[in-house]
Formats: sequence, structure tokens, C-alpha cells
Amino acid sequence: MIDDTYFGITRNAGVLDRWVVESILSGISDSNIDVCYLKHLVEATTPLYSCNRPPGAAGALIVLRDKVIYGWVASPTPLRSCKTDGCEMDDGHCVRNTHSEIQAIIRSARRGLPTEQATMYSILKPCYNCTKAIIHAGIRKVLYAGAAYDEKRTNDLMNYAKIEYGLVDIGLEYGNA
Ligand SMILES: [Zn+2]
Ligand SMILES: [Zn+2]
Repeated sequence: MIDDTYFGITRNAGVLDRWVVESILSGISDSNIDVCYLKHLVEATTPLYSCNRPPGAAGALIVLRDKVIYGWVASPTPLRSCKTDGCEMDDGHCVRNTHSEIQAIIRSARRGLPTEQATMYSILKPCYNCTKAIIHAGIRKVLYAGAAYDEKRTNDLMNYAKIEYGLVDIGLEYGNA
């Protein structure tokens, strides 16, 4: 069995992964699957958000056929999270945490879920750095609910890599400023 305690909340994450699949398959949510995934993502990852900084919460979900895996904003060790040690600021940004998109890719590797040809749902549009990781991982489609990191260089990179991407309106109250 894989020891995933590196991320501190293994058991919760496992429950969340199953919960999303069951919720979606049971059809209790929105009829639009993209809206459904993103709304679930907000609900599921907001309590896990470990940074003290805005814009609120971020989370990512990698979907490949019937398999899903979460990523959320977290420091590599829960013993030194923003909640206990404060944020680690660099040029106006907190850099203590790993962004949720990269964490989702890392968790996929640890759990043996392929990322090639997968779709990623992310609460916020991936930043430039995460976009590079997404391309490396072979993810083909990225949908997000807030365009917080809307940069031309990110769009150029996604276009060059032929990644399908777009904003899905779920009424997110942050991340679209
Ligand atoms: Zn922080
Ligand atoms: Zn990022």
C-alpha cells in the first residue's frame, strides 16, 4: 500500500476521490458534467486550503475515464503549513505551498493514475508554471471556474501545446477580478 502521509490528509483525500465519483454517477448534481465537477471541486477542496492568502481556495481534479484524483493547495509537509508557520512571501506571493494543479499531478503519480490524455478541472485558471507541468503530464483539456491567472504567455503555451481550455461559469465569487 502506498504511504501517502506526505500530504498529511490521506484518508480524507481517499474519501473525497470516491465521493466525487459516486456523486457524479448518481446524477444528483447539475446536468452539465463540467459544472458538476467544478462545483464539487470547490466544495471538496475549500476546507483543505492551507494558505492564509486570497483569492480563497484553489483545487484541481484530474479525470481520466472513470478515475479522478484531487489536488489542493498544500505545503509539502503539514507540519510547516501557512496555518501553523505563516505564509512564506516572495514578490507578493506566498510560495510555501504547491499549487493544486501540480499537487494533483504528483498525487496521480503516487497513486498510479495516468495523466496522459486526461482532463483537468481547476477552480482557477492554471498559472504559467502549472501550465508547463500540465503539458509535461500530457493533459489534453483544462477547464476552470475563475480566470485569476489570465496571462497571454499561458494562453500562448496552451495553444502551442494544442491543449483545449476554457472558462466554465459556475458563479464563483472570487478569481475573476
Ligand atoms: Zn501561504
Ligand atoms: Zn499554478
